[in-house]
Amino acid sequence: MDATIQTLDLAAQRARLGGRIEAAISRVMEHGAFIMGPEVGALEQELAAYCGAQYVVTCADGTDALVLVMMAENIGPGDAVFMPSFTFVAAAEAVALRGAAPIFVDVDAVTFNISPASLESSVQVAIDAGLRPRGVISVDLFGLPADYDRLHLICTKHDLLLVADAAQSFGASYKNRRVGTLADYTTTSFFPSKPLGCYGDGGAVFVDDPARAGLLRSLRAHGKGGEKYDNVRVGLNSRLDTIQAAVLREKLTVLDEEIDRRNQISDIYTGLLGGIVRTPPEATETRSAWAQYTVIAPSPELRGLLMAELAAEGIPTAIYYPKALNRQTGYRR
Ligand SMILES: *Cc1c(COP(=O)(O)O)cnc(C)c1O
Repeated sequence: MDATIQTLDLAAQRARLGGRIEAAISRVMEHGAFIMGPEVGALEQELAAYCGAQYVVTCADGTDALVLVMMAENIGPGDAVFMPSFTFVAAAEAVALRGAAPIFVDVDAVTFNISPASLESSVQVAIDAGLRPRGVISVDLFGLPADYDRLHLICTKHDLLLVADAAQSFGASYKNRRVGTLADYTTTSFFPSKPLGCYGDGGAVFVDDPARAGLLRSLRAHGKGGEKYDNVRVGLNSRLDTIQAAVLREKLTVLDEEIDRRNQISDIYTGLLGGIVRTPPEATETRSAWAQYTVIAPSPELRGLLMAELAAEGIPTAIYYPKALNRQTGYRR
């Protein structure tokens, strides 16, 4: 074993769970129901119970989770969907793939989450451009829930759908409510490095409305109707593999403990780094899932120096994210 620190030590997690993950994978290989096997439904129920959502619909990945929501809500040409400019590209993709306009909203300088004030002014910008404001995709960046109370007020005022992209925040909470219950729809990703990750791609949508859940189940299976070869709408092939569901069921049992530990460790980082770099905001009414622990260096030069010094000590770092969405070539227009 080398002594360097891993960005995410999945080997340690696996060792901690003992043989449970391997045993769960073996059981799937024994029963052979690789597509929509019993572990998928069991996981959906366990995820719902964990966060308090009524329905969970798993799918192929976190990007598809957003696409499925956009399909379920019939978002299309002429529609505007608002999202923070500083996030991973998936939210923009899901909207643009539907022919709708992703509208990039500024972020709060402290939390990096979508700025409610900027959202308010962006709604008018979209209307002035001749677009129909339809929804907001909030992102809980680095694991910290967005300002849901204020987002709900704005969404109610403008009749907007609120979709929480919780790819980085599953397991976090906001005012004693779990992520998964804070918006009309919540999406997440089980990409290996997310707070709850599998051993490949995976995703899920959380929703309280039974009609929406039914629509999502149809859309993820080729728009199926009552029977398998009855296609009542245009859908996708977007299912979570049974093997990945089996892995996730084991990891879900330790998620709360892992997030407790991440919170303890982030407190230590903040205590030690506070005078040197700008550390993440102290959360009062929220509890982050700490997908990443991010700091702001005083200047680009000092950032480069810090990264080099840490690398020399075997401590990995990365820049999250190097470029905002409004500056990405594919989305500039
Ligand atoms: C990872 C991520 C996604 C996409 O998830 P995939 O499972 O990789 O498709 C979406 N949004 C955010 C904020 C993410 O971090």
